Amino acid sequence: MPNRALLALARSDRARDLALQLPATRAMVRRFVPGETRTAAVEVAAGLVAEGLRVTLDRLGEDTTERRHAHRVEAEYAALLGELARRGLARHTEVSVKLTALGLRLPGGEEIATMHARSICETARTAGTTVTLDMEDHTVTAATLRVLRALRAEFPETGGVLQAYLRRTPADCRTLSGPGSRIRLCKGAYDEPADVAFASRHEVDLSYVACLRTLLAGEGYPMVATHDPRIIAIARHLAERHGRVPGDHEFQMLYGVRPDEQRRLAAEGETVRVYLPYGEEWWGYLTRRLAERPANLSFFVRSLLSS
Ligand code: FAD
Repeated sequence: MPNRALLALARSDRARDLALQLPATRAMVRRFVPGETRTAAVEVAAGLVAEGLRVTLDRLGEDTTERRHAHRVEAEYAALLGELARRGLARHTEVSVKLTALGLRLPGGEEIATMHARSICETARTAGTTVTLDMEDHTVTAATLRVLRALRAEFPETGGVLQAYLRRTPADCRTLSGPGSRIRLCKGAYDEPADVAFASRHEVDLSYVACLRTLLAGEGYPMVATHDPRIIAIARHLAERHGRVPGDHEFQMLYGVRPDEQRRLAAEGETVRVYLPYGEEWWGYLTRRLAERPANLSFFVRSLLSS
């Protein structure tokens, strides 16, 4: 499970400022976040699409504390969607959005975030693509699912994310496995208390597979987000057993993680989407990537020692 001490650093400005002084940090960031600007990210997305992959772009940032910042996030997504459409990429790309970046934690935040998310969904539809609402920590799970339900009434193509480590998720999968539902299933990346989330890797994996069964047996469009080779093999087996074919479900992986496997699956005919984050607010995202894999952390520490 993710390293708790590291996840705690995700909210520390001091740790971020210290890390920024180190050349090794930049190299690590570039591995997971290939661009700080929209233009750089769209360029990388175009390259991935040319290789036969799909992309979901995430403008980094979370926990907005000011209303005008939420407006700026909405405007950035509008500009991004416009650029994807202009470059003819909208069919193979979509956007991932965090509701806390749209103001979910502000007073009256659910209404504010819904308003901004609705506007992004509208722009995405005009551009010819879709939006997926990322899932954040458990304190916003219920609100995020309520906003998803509200958006789907107008934009049924809107996707959501469920995290297998949450005890509630098998039930959420049952609710969200109906026709038209687009659900990304991931293990979950936040530090959660034991009363809401499974603590051991084994329990999370069992939950993931149970959720996969529900989603793949259902009538929606499951998005299998994992790098875990065993779970990918199980998902492919279950998909076949349920008569699914590439195109009625997809695999998703993070930019910079198992890139050869992304291309191998795509070459075998699977639909594979790469999650591509960009922007300057990469600290929280980077610490989550370091926390979920000790090898990344030791690479980082070795680079620090040699810098
Ligand atoms: P793990 O058991 O963690 O890893 C399996 C194997 O994958 C590892 O042995 C290693 O080989 C490789 N691997 C995994 N992570 C890394 C890494 N960081 N660096 C290098 N190798 C690695 N979480 C959320 O909470 N909310 C979201 O909205 C969300 N969206 C996501 C979208 C996508 C497309 C993906 C792929 C993940 C998303 N996640 C999200 C993160 C997810 O919850 C996990 O934290 C992350 O994917 C690691 O879990 P895993 O399934 O890959 O399995």
